[in-house]
Amino acid sequence: MQIQFLGASGTVTGSRYLLTHEGRRLLVDCGLFQGVKELRLRNWQPLPVDASAIDAVLLTHAHLDHSGFLPRLVCLGFKGPVFCTEGTRELCGLLLPDSGHLLEEEADFANRHGFSKHRPALPLYTEADARAALASFQICAFDESFSPWPGWRVRLTRAGHILGAASARIEWDRGSILFSGDLGRSDDLVMRAPQPCEPAGYVVVESTYGDRLHPTSDVLEEVAQVVNRTAARGGTVVIPSFAVGRAQTLLYCLRKLKDDGRIPEMPVYLNSPMAADTTGIYCRHLDEHRLAAKDCAALGKSATIVNTVEESRRLNELRFPSIIVSASGMATGGRVLHHLKAYAPDERNTLLFSGFQAAGTRGAALVAGARTIKIHGSDVPVRAEVVQLQNLSAHADRGQLLAWLAPLASARRIFVTHGEAVASDALRLAIKARYWTPVTVPGDGDTYQL
Ligand SMILES: [Zn+2]
Repeated sequence: MQIQFLGASGTVTGSRYLLTHEGRRLLVDCGLFQGVKELRLRNWQPLPVDASAIDAVLLTHAHLDHSGFLPRLVCLGFKGPVFCTEGTRELCGLLLPDSGHLLEEEADFANRHGFSKHRPALPLYTEADARAALASFQICAFDESFSPWPGWRVRLTRAGHILGAASARIEWDRGSILFSGDLGRSDDLVMRAPQPCEPAGYVVVESTYGDRLHPTSDVLEEVAQVVNRTAARGGTVVIPSFAVGRAQTLLYCLRKLKDDGRIPEMPVYLNSPMAADTTGIYCRHLDEHRLAAKDCAALGKSATIVNTVEESRRLNELRFPSIIVSASGMATGGRVLHHLKAYAPDERNTLLFSGFQAAGTRGAALVAGARTIKIHGSDVPVRAEVVQLQNLSAHADRGQLLAWLAPLASARRIFVTHGEAVASDALRLAIKARYWTPVTVPGDGDTYQL
């Protein structure tokens, strides 16, 4: 068996791992590169093998940095099945067409404003391409192994990161490798803890928070303080949020705080039709998270869902303290940009970031204290309070990663991926110190014989 690392080296995006064994090729995750331009351009670089020579794709979960390259792969000639869990299939059904739509909009914008060196600028793929790619999905149940080809066995276990998220153990005649996927945390408010995994010959583990421990602070109390402080100033809280996973956790927090009388009865707007649809999917998969059926149903009703662009615009004229949850989570695009334009210049308001902010994004700049940000070509002054919640991450921290690795420490080698260089190296050192297992941070394009 040979593994080649085709992304997520020195970055948290572009997860792609190519396994080759006895003439078969399986691509584990098929992610988009996101963030700074240099990374985004990598989505256009040729793969080391022909897309048509890849026999199948296995997705660990639906986030675009793990699934968002798939429609492009299909455009390039990939014709095989895409294995994933039911939750991942349902979420990809929302995320991939939306991604295609955004890519088309970007290309269109570049053409109209002459931004692109390419004439005309083309999208990486379209919404129609994304819908076509969904036709090749094949659902795999958690905890049941299946054989894509003679001599290969694949088994998915719950990774607790978002709905449908899995760790994947792949076995062949002479060995085995376990991919952590993105690992959730044992103390997540909404998702259940990751399942412990069976030992494997090799392990590929993510390291988003490989250099950090989550604070022990009470996230509900943190959110309550921010909301109360802003409401007392007569301001509005704008929360840029990923539509999938994060938005549901935020709605749950806000609902609980209201029920317990810890924040005032102020309106909450969910300005992301996709987040609203995602909440429905959570209601259909009760076994993967901690919410009871009635709490899940209540989530959908706890916010006013904003559908049309006209309704979205009206949110920029609110005169009373309110909370607006809107995508995208790192303020790289989406409707939240219009809210930032409207609310960032007023010191009464708060911009509340709830997750990891990748380098090069507006979110990272704001959290670092930027006093102006560029939105749609104009400089927007930032006078609003900017807060980053440290404790709402959907990723295991260093301690939780090490605990998850404990039963796997007998591996012949652990590969540390999916982290900024500093985080990956910190986890590598921590693994070495605690378990003495041979451990490597693979470079981009590196190949290993297993
Ligand atoms: Zn993820």
